[in-house]
Amino acid sequence: MENRHANSERLFGEAVSYIPGGVNSPVRAFSSVGMSPLFIKKSEGPHIIDADGNRYIDYVCSWGPMILGHNNSEVYDAVVEAAKNGLSFGYATEIEVKMAKLICEMVPSVQMVRMVNSGTEAVMSAIRAARGFTGRNKILKFEGCYHGHTDSMLVKAGSGLMTSGIPTSAGVPQGCTQDTLLAAYNDLEGIEKIFQTSGDEIAAVIVEPVAANMGVVLPGKGFLERLRSLCDSNGAVLIFDEVITGFRLSAGGAGEYFGIRPDLITFGKIIGAGMPVGAYGGSREIMECISPSGPVYQAGTLSGNPIAMNAGYTLLSILKNHPEYYAGINHNAETLFEGMKQIIREAGLPYRVNYIGSLGNVFFTDTDVTEYGSASKSDTKMYAQFFRFMLSQGICLAPSQFEAMFVSYAHDDSIIRDTLNAFEKFIHSLK
Ligand code: PMP
Repeated sequence: MENRHANSERLFGEAVSYIPGGVNSPVRAFSSVGMSPLFIKKSEGPHIIDADGNRYIDYVCSWGPMILGHNNSEVYDAVVEAAKNGLSFGYATEIEVKMAKLICEMVPSVQMVRMVNSGTEAVMSAIRAARGFTGRNKILKFEGCYHGHTDSMLVKAGSGLMTSGIPTSAGVPQGCTQDTLLAAYNDLEGIEKIFQTSGDEIAAVIVEPVAANMGVVLPGKGFLERLRSLCDSNGAVLIFDEVITGFRLSAGGAGEYFGIRPDLITFGKIIGAGMPVGAYGGSREIMECISPSGPVYQAGTLSGNPIAMNAGYTLLSILKNHPEYYAGINHNAETLFEGMKQIIREAGLPYRVNYIGSLGNVFFTDTDVTEYGSASKSDTKMYAQFFRFMLSQGICLAPSQFEAMFVSYAHDDSIIRDTLNAFEKFIHSLK
């Protein structure tokens, strides 16, 4: 039989000699689905095209940034135009002012914002700001939430760590995590207990307002509200890690969507439209602690890079000026995820589909998934089978049970129909 992945396999064979595991981020490895990774050379709209010329409907969407679909023409033009003036200056630029102002206009609780180069950097910096602001050390995080690979957050983390079954990383000294407190997502009782014993030592609670790194797990009724009130009554900073939900759940992100004002928000992904960008922002009072206006040091040679800022500014402007896009994106996602639910129901199978807005996924388990423990019960071998079947039908999913499916504006009715047809074939193959 013809090998449809010959070029990807050849490239991977070479890559493993020079790059650890052959990939520059572990989530790109396909080992948990029993394959070698695809190498991609091109993308457009809802599609990616691999090194062998195969075209796939893509639900990874660069892990989130491509909310309008791949290679948006306005973003592309902005990047090409900006590049003509030089790639980086290391001086302040006008586009940084425009970008900061736009973010502050779009996100209700953000009064000031600092640009960085990744979600990891945004989280690392926001935590430092919260500690500097409160004069406290402890950070409460939730099992299965992923906040990038900064040392203190590599405890019971989701995403690639959950996929590989090593939720804590080697190379992180105990000293780096001794101030990290852990709770189960949605477990208000547990969280209240932690606040009773350590409330006056907690600098910040950091949470993904929709957990999207253990598959997609929705915040239960009152969960985020209670985090807000516990932070208020204990003098702790509430950080929403909106690297995934920012500019996705709504133009103002999850804070706006749920009607809650976090003190700090971290951004990544959509904010850079596919360029390496992150940001953190929030109340003026806290943000003024950042150097050079305050004593919390944080810096970056390429932060606010003009090419990246032009890309992000263009995408955010489109989203701000066309709120109707969100209705379209959410319609695509609802058609997909409700369709999947129906197919599962009609087949009499117990699997769960969790979704909100344009984030969702299927868990191969017969119990509701509300936190790390229930997510972990999902049958990852079944997911691997699912992944490979969908790929054979021209549909590319995240190569792990513990990641989200990202739906974009470009995943129109015909793309969703093709996806549901393939999903139905898979589910029938199980009966
Ligand atoms: N926070 C969340 C919620 C994320 O999903 C991610 C990445 N998937 C990060 C932080 C880290 O972002 P980056 O990979 O850009 O460092």
